[in-house]
Amino acid sequence: MMANLKDKRFRSIKKSHAWISIVMFVIVSLMAAAVIGLFISTFIYYLIDMKISEEYRDVVYMSKMYEKASADGSDDIYGLLDESGRSYLIVSSDGREIHRSGEVTMSGDESTLTLSTLPEKVRVIFDEKTNAFRVGNNGGLVIDLPAVFGDLREFSASEEVDRYDEEYDLDLSTIRDNPDILYLPFWIQTDVTGGVMNVKAFITFNVKDIYLFGTIGIVAAALSLVVFIIMISNIISGIIRRRRTLNVFFTDIVTGGHNWMWFIIKGQQFLKKMKNYSARYAVLNIVFVNYRNFTVCHSIEEGEQMLVRVHRTIGAALNKREIYAHCASSDFAVVMRFTDQDALKRRVESLISSLSTIDSDHRFAFQVGITIIEPDGTPDKSGVPVRRKNLDLELEYNNACTARSALESGDESGIAFFDDKLVEDQKWVDLVQERQESALANEEFMVYYQPKYDPRTDELRGAEALIRWQSPEFGFVPPGRIIPIYEKNGFITEIDHYMIEHVAKDQKAWLDMGLKCVPVSVNVSRAHFIENDLAEQIRDMIDRVGTPHDLIEIELTESAFFDDKKAMISTIAKLKEYGFAVSMDDFGSGYSSLNSLKDMPLDVLKLDAEFFRGDNDNGRGEIVVSEAIKLAKSLNMRTVAEGVEVRDQVDFLASQGCDMIQGYYYAKPMPKNEYRQRMGTVPSEPQQA
Ligand code: C2E
Ligand code: CA
Ligand code: CA
Repeated sequence: MMANLKDKRFRSIKKSHAWISIVMFVIVSLMAAAVIGLFISTFIYYLIDMKISEEYRDVVYMSKMYEKASADGSDDIYGLLDESGRSYLIVSSDGREIHRSGEVTMSGDESTLTLSTLPEKVRVIFDEKTNAFRVGNNGGLVIDLPAVFGDLREFSASEEVDRYDEEYDLDLSTIRDNPDILYLPFWIQTDVTGGVMNVKAFITFNVKDIYLFGTIGIVAAALSLVVFIIMISNIISGIIRRRRTLNVFFTDIVTGGHNWMWFIIKGQQFLKKMKNYSARYAVLNIVFVNYRNFTVCHSIEEGEQMLVRVHRTIGAALNKREIYAHCASSDFAVVMRFTDQDALKRRVESLISSLSTIDSDHRFAFQVGITIIEPDGTPDKSGVPVRRKNLDLELEYNNACTARSALESGDESGIAFFDDKLVEDQKWVDLVQERQESALANEEFMVYYQPKYDPRTDELRGAEALIRWQSPEFGFVPPGRIIPIYEKNGFITEIDHYMIEHVAKDQKAWLDMGLKCVPVSVNVSRAHFIENDLAEQIRDMIDRVGTPHDLIEIELTESAFFDDKKAMISTIAKLKEYGFAVSMDDFGSGYSSLNSLKDMPLDVLKLDAEFFRGDNDNGRGEIVVSEAIKLAKSLNMRTVAEGVEVRDQVDFLASQGCDMIQGYYYAKPMPKNEYRQRMGTVPSEPQQA
């Protein structure tokens, strides 16, 4: 969508400056040439047409005279004709020469002319001594002016003519030697009784007229040239203007290099060049992770100076057949050429390491998402060859961004390659987010309860409420597929409220039914802890239902303790003050939180399931567990062991004084009705899951 819009804008800039003027130029030039050509040819045709008709009338007159004389049986037929001063040749119908006079110099090339001034067609034969005009295939005249100027002058001087020309009112000797008059001889053929008569005719041109005509032609040509030059300079300035506009359009103001628009449009053209078809390319999304922080601590100006350095460093790491641009505040787009993926990875790692040290006072992190563009014709997963001409660089870059965002959201440098699963994941994330509100409103989220048992007595001591999504569309969805999404987009706070409210309602109902209720713990996400009235919110919610506070416990994950310690301590203190037990979830997973234990007034320590996973570790795990239990006891905390699956572990935990076990050994998380049946009963035999 966006690419189309950009492409359109880009094309409109390109078009408006070059194509319109080029097309206009071509049209105007063609029109001017056509008008000038038409004018000249019409003029020449008109002139020649007129002159030939005049000559033709003379020749017809001669032929009439000959016919009349021969009909009258005149003695001196030829004497009369000779008086005309023209050369002629009379031939009988069977080809015999009857009479000739003067210089008979016919070339043999014949043609028939249609003249505008005469009703009948005129048969002409060209003269050997002139190339001055030819007859085109369509019978039209084509005049060859250079020949008129060159050869004919010579010819006119040497030609023996004895003719009186009315037009110039000169006697023939004057005409013959007059360099101002040009002669163009040709022969006109007419039918006479018993044969044909060929008479030599002339087209005469006054050289002065030709010069005048030539001058007009030259002026017209000069004018056309001026117009031509104006148009050419217009086009050139248009091109320069277009270049400038495109430069502005494609320049990144921060780094002075290319921008996102350039990358998408030019990069796409670059990858679609035939010569690049057979190469493998990688599209990279490089993110300067600490950029925001840096500008907050320093200034936007200093931040931008860093971006300039990043830009330069990336540029220095690339070769001529690779491209890059600064896209958004901390994002850079790069196209790299490569053959071997491991080598590419090493190259990117080395780029990251140069980038991380662009400033001697800081060590920056850069995250890179990479998507691969295979050579043209490489089959995709379903075996269909992928065509480079169909490449969509914006989509590829988007994939690189998706790969990048799949990296841990921490401040660490990293590289991630894109694969189709990421798209699937992304689609799932979108779907879950689209459905979240309706799922909540339609109560599609179910509360499952996982009981906690006392390992010494196998008595039910508590439970943890765990969410499930019973989606009409996707079926039963486990929390691992939704909770991380809700944690990221903040919807988790709604979920936490939903769970607390539903657990409170269940507990109240069970209590009213006279069942022996035990505390149920509810997970409260770390995202929720930024609200400083969280404790009040929880209290009010539970009070609206009317559930005793000692039946609700709040679980916090260990990682939550890192955010804002002070706020955390005050929230925990308030929760405790209102009578809720608070537990630290997943103790021992990931972060070391002995420090948190020191500061936080917690009631319950939940040992992470990881302690009970894996192979025999020579008893070291047991030592850690037993010490953790001791530590909790000395801090006046109860302990819950999570993820316990086998009897040996239960026995060991019982021997160490662990208060509760929440694990498949006793029970998996279950729907509330199933859980209700476990209440008020002490299982005589532990149930295997
Ligand atoms: P958690 O809070 O650590 O929950 C315990 C998880 O361990 C549960 O997975 C439970 O089914 C599982 N588990 C318990 N015993 C065993 C065992 O013996 N073996 C094994 N392999 N697993 C066992 P579940 O229900 O899939 O929940 C996963 C995580 O989702 C929870 O981890 C919790 O972080 C989150 N979660 C679940 N419900 C909620 C909720 O309502 N709100 C919030 N914020 N997070 C929730
Ligand atoms: Ca939990
Ligand atoms: Ca846990």
